[in-house]
Amino acid sequence: MRKKLVAGNWKMNMNVDESRMLAEDILKKLGDFNEADVVLCPPFTSIETVHKIVEDSIIEVGAQNLYYEKSGAFTGEISADMLVSAGCKYVILGHSERREYFNETDKIINKKIKTALESELIPVLCIGEKLKQREQGITDKVIRNQFDGCLNGIFLEKPDDLIIAYEPVWAIGTGKNATPEQAEEVHILIRGLVSKKYTTEIAENLRILYGGSVKPENARSLFSMNDIDGGLIGGASLKADSFVSIIKSI
Ligand code: PEP
Repeated sequence: MRKKLVAGNWKMNMNVDESRMLAEDILKKLGDFNEADVVLCPPFTSIETVHKIVEDSIIEVGAQNLYYEKSGAFTGEISADMLVSAGCKYVILGHSERREYFNETDKIINKKIKTALESELIPVLCIGEKLKQREQGITDKVIRNQFDGCLNGIFLEKPDDLIIAYEPVWAIGTGKNATPEQAEEVHILIRGLVSKKYTTEIAENLRILYGGSVKPENARSLFSMNDIDGGLIGGASLKADSFVSIIKSI
């Protein structure tokens, strides 16, 4: 039985004080709920603060990116070791906004996943098609290519070492979510790819999240699908009420 996981991607929002207040509010509203794993991914500047607030709770902290080199003259970048030392357990990699605005390719994402795994950070690998690609009927091909490219040469010791998030680009921040059936179809495809590349045991236990305009109103129907193991939440993770309501809809 896969335990559901809900992760909040705060993107470039929340200064340190705002992050502290949001994390405290989420913690308070979550109460003793423990039926899902919960991850908060604040901006780099708030990671340590948020970690200190949640460290004795079920909430874990993740980063939104890392650089694949270990250290050195890479002005403005952040290493896996720095994230671990600030309290991160997870790192979002391959988000469509990184692909779109910062030219990240599957090859770069692949190097980042390798670095994350070497540092015992759990990558939350985002893959998903654009609207045009869905309309052209090439969603499967896009997903296969991203999966193969990002995970090229990557060995998984156990299913918990990686999380995949299916995020149709046309549903991110647009208010248009995939229907539970549309999402489930792609989740089944991804689980099949995991099974073929790794083992059926890894495929049965690896968590595949859905991301794209998840809100309290649609979370329950999405999360009730067999192969949807939780969500990666953007906009709705910036308010404690909506984020906790999504978590509790598990
Ligand atoms: C995201 O950025 O990963 C995301 C799913 O955003 P939103 O929930 O705002 O669509």
